[in-house]
Amino acid sequence: MADQIKPATVAVHAGRPPREIDQALNVPITMASTYVAGGDKEYGRYANDTWSAFEEALGALEGGKALTFASGLSAVATILDLVNDSVVVAGQSYQGTIGQLADLEARGRLTARLVDITDTAGVVAALDDDVALLWIESPTNPGMALADLPALIAAAHDAGVQVVVDNTFATPLLQQPLALGADIVVHSATKYLAGHSDAVMGAIVVPDTDEGRALWDVLKGRRDLIGAIPGTMEAWLALRGLRTLSLRVERAAANAADLAARLAEHPAVEEVRYPGFGGMLAIVLRTAEAAEAVTHATDLWVHATSLGGVESTFERRRRWKTEDQNVPEGLIRLSVGIEDVDDLWADLAGALDRL
Ligand SMILES: *Cc1c(COP(=O)(O)O)cnc(C)c1O
Repeated sequence: MADQIKPATVAVHAGRPPREIDQALNVPITMASTYVAGGDKEYGRYANDTWSAFEEALGALEGGKALTFASGLSAVATILDLVNDSVVVAGQSYQGTIGQLADLEARGRLTARLVDITDTAGVVAALDDDVALLWIESPTNPGMALADLPALIAAAHDAGVQVVVDNTFATPLLQQPLALGADIVVHSATKYLAGHSDAVMGAIVVPDTDEGRALWDVLKGRRDLIGAIPGTMEAWLALRGLRTLSLRVERAAANAADLAARLAEHPAVEEVRYPGFGGMLAIVLRTAEAAEAVTHATDLWVHATSLGGVESTFERRRRWKTEDQNVPEGLIRLSVGIEDVDDLWADLAGALDRL
């Protein structure tokens, strides 16, 4: 049964307690720092039933075995901690990931080679003998660039390079990197998975194979050791959010497609970067000042960082000093929510019209 049901059903049903009389339908928020000795839980840094329920549900959605972390970036750090060679990484990726790589490089731990992830031949050419890992984001944050995942994964494996895909923007409903052969999927569960802008959490998913399970054990060992664990409340919220992932992504994606088309017609918009799926897009306005003005002139769209919530948010990414200098000054990243699309358009178009 579990192998045949569709992702929208998996999101609702996976990670539930056993169906027994008087059993709650939902996993409880287990507040515990320690457990009666003699079992395999032992201590609150090693195990928690609320985390496990979220891991079961996310693992089922991605088609692998999941492990939760305190944040997306602690999941990223845990993976990068295992690498000693070069990493080839999509430029215009999430600045926190690039920041970690730059920090590790500055301390002589590894070298990071930034590539244009849309240039498949260029990326493949960068995969030489020194490279341990290919780090892909697709779509990239905030560049909205798309990678040819099947081609890159195949080429990386030919070169003996492992592949990580940050699947935060696409979600497992729109893109399943493990099914395409990726070795590791990483998520900021803060975004679409939890989906309500009320929890910070991360996750790693690996294939449910002998090799994948061995890697899961290594990653779990690292999590035990460094304590990059989520709070129980966060795990519960993320699982609660995951139940409606399919509805939220469907509506956000439909709204984003509609807005992308309307934005392309607006004279103040120089460029629309819309990957053709999902709820994220970016627009480029002529100047930083124009972009700043728009992000301060709406009633519904919230000027805020982060993404993937039910509410529509947007921001000029270059307001962050840490953002890639190749990201245009006038680029606004939009995280389209699940509101009525006509209301979203009226609010946004009003701000653009007033420029
Ligand atoms: C937000 C984000 C991260 C970092 O996740 P946190 O939960 O904020 O630590 C990593 N990758 C992408 C693509 C993101 O958008």
